[in-house]
Amino acid sequence: MSPAYRKPETSWQHDAPLNGGMTYGKRARTTHRRIRIRRNRVAGLLVVIATIAAALGYHVLASSSSTAASPLDVLRSEHRGVLGEADGAVPDGVTVFDDEIPGIANLDPDLLGALRQAASAAADDGVEFFVDSGWRSPKYQNELLREAVSEYGSEEEAARWVATAETSAHVWGDAVDLGPFDATAWLSEHGADYGLCQIYSNEPWHYELRPDAIGRGCPPRYADPTHDPRMQAAA
Ligand SMILES: [Zn+2]
Repeated sequence: MSPAYRKPETSWQHDAPLNGGMTYGKRARTTHRRIRIRRNRVAGLLVVIATIAAALGYHVLASSSSTAASPLDVLRSEHRGVLGEADGAVPDGVTVFDDEIPGIANLDPDLLGALRQAASAAADDGVEFFVDSGWRSPKYQNELLREAVSEYGSEEEAARWVATAETSAHVWGDAVDLGPFDATAWLSEHGADYGLCQIYSNEPWHYELRPDAIGRGCPPRYADPTHDPRMQAAA
């Protein structure tokens, strides 16, 4: 509910005890009723404004989510309630330093070490890394895949975004999805210095460790996971 909508209710609550304790004549009562009607009109108008604002807000949200957040992000956030942290669900605001979260703790130690070094350097530049997804249990990965197939309508299309439990680098503890945008922007510039590379062109948030990248730069990216030989071998 918007503050604009709540405001008239609050003023009614303020009036109630005041009016209850007062005795007043017909004239005062009529005046009060008039104010009341006017207030209702104002409240009604505010409701209309709030509804329009909400509709606009929803529109802005919907259009920004289609550009900023991937369909997979939406799936993932829906899953936070269904699958627990033990399966790799990551609550909001988790960083690469949060050892107590299994999604972080079960990452490959070399990947985690590189992420922490990079995160410390990024912090000096005023950039903070947040983990949207790290290690995932096979159960979690299979659930994501099932959802993706129903979302995209076919296994072929879903495979462009979600790997199987057998092929997902997340299940191996070898991949991490990071945000927000300034974090991935920082990594696209400096990640190779830590062996951290974006692997797929369609997933700017997905990073894995490529130790050879240090001093040489990251290897060319695959357009999407279906071009990754690791996926094809198991398919
Ligand atoms: Zn990923």
